[in-house]
Amino acid sequence: MKVGGSFLVIVNPEIVWKSEAQVIMEEGCLSLPDIWINISRPSEVILKFFDQNGKEQERKFSGVDARAAQHEIDHLNGVLITDFR
Ligand SMILES: [Zn+2]
Repeated sequence: MKVGGSFLVIVNPEIVWKSEAQVIMEEGCLSLPDIWINISRPSEVILKFFDQNGKEQERKFSGVDARAAQHEIDHLNGVLITDFR
């Protein structure tokens, strides 16, 4: 993921906390050109993951970073934005 202008390696991520607050945002996907879908997601998440050195990390993501993280974790679970329609 690109976070704050630099790349962050996230291996085997797990969402360990989600905010109750949700945000609806129009979301696209590089794998599905020209498809845009309004999706409601928690506005903040905390992920547990391994970094590029195999070290376990826990980090909070907000805003567009939280959305991107949830989108990519959906991919790992076989879920696409079209599954939200
Ligand atoms: Zn995607």
